[in-house]
Amino acid sequence: MKNSSHNSPPKLYSHLYIERSILEHPQTQMIRAKFGDSQVIVIDHYKEVFNRPSQSFAAQSHSKKLILARKEGKFLHEGSQYSDGFGHEQFFYASSVMGCLYDCDYCYLQGLYPSANTVLFVNLEDAFEQLRPYLLRDTLVATSYDTDTLAIESLTHQTREWLKFAAEQKQLHLEIRTKSANIKSLKSSPPNPRVTLAWTLSPQEIIDRYEHATPSLEKRLGAVREALSLGWKVRLCVDPVIYTENFDSLYPALIDQIFSTIDPKSIEHLTLGSFRMSQSHLRSLKKLRRSDVAFYPYAVSDEMATYPEAIENTILERLLAKATHYLPLKRIRTWQRQS
Ligand code: SF4
Repeated sequence: MKNSSHNSPPKLYSHLYIERSILEHPQTQMIRAKFGDSQVIVIDHYKEVFNRPSQSFAAQSHSKKLILARKEGKFLHEGSQYSDGFGHEQFFYASSVMGCLYDCDYCYLQGLYPSANTVLFVNLEDAFEQLRPYLLRDTLVATSYDTDTLAIESLTHQTREWLKFAAEQKQLHLEIRTKSANIKSLKSSPPNPRVTLAWTLSPQEIIDRYEHATPSLEKRLGAVREALSLGWKVRLCVDPVIYTENFDSLYPALIDQIFSTIDPKSIEHLTLGSFRMSQSHLRSLKKLRRSDVAFYPYAVSDEMATYPEAIENTILERLLAKATHYLPLKRIRTWQRQS
């Protein structure tokens, strides 16, 4: 499928559903003010809408709804084997949002959730309370792990809240992973050396094919340059790499394109990693039959689907050969299956 929208901002949510019990929450009121009354529907519990049976993920992707809810359980989850804790003593990801405004063909959320709509948990103050007991030790929290929080920041202001909290907590490090070009929230906060902004970058052809409704490569690079000029720490992630017939021309050229306008010395790390996914999420992705990414003959071991070892090695070798023109090896992180 061709992406026609990379040059325009993602569509706003068409409707807002609100759980009755949080109608008076300040974040609810702030968001509600941005919707007309006819677009707002009050519900008892988010699962009435989000978990409704027989929903079409593909159809909903074209007209997403936003659901405001109260999270009743844990906001924090321990970092998984698919991600990098960057050597911090403790690593969590915080899930204050379920679903994403963007629509990447390879996204595991399609296998995880019954709906393409977005649930935003407004009681972020409870996430901070759950985190406090851990903050006697060095702790990394990925705040944008199951979503892209910056993509909806103009509505939610959650990143702003995280930045405020992190400014007061000296043991807390944040990673904010994004494909967004919306960095307005960063302009109102002083840069914090314990916060890393991590941009996922892909060749434009891959964005067009697989990363629907996301900003173009040029817009992402523009946001990276601006964040660096404001003094923020930035990590660049060429991850996940999608192995296509023209991998050899697309991805090395991407690395040249990145460093044609970004000083390699100004970034913290470059992360390289090929596509990988748990077997159960891949099975769900196949049921949706949306993309060739789901139907590649992956190698599966320990419940994880990856490219066969020879291809994985080729990807890594080619990208490392190019990346080391710009950065020393110690500033390049790679993801590879442990054998
Ligand atoms: S930006 Fe990330 S979370 Fe959002 S759809 Fe794409 S892969 Fe999924």
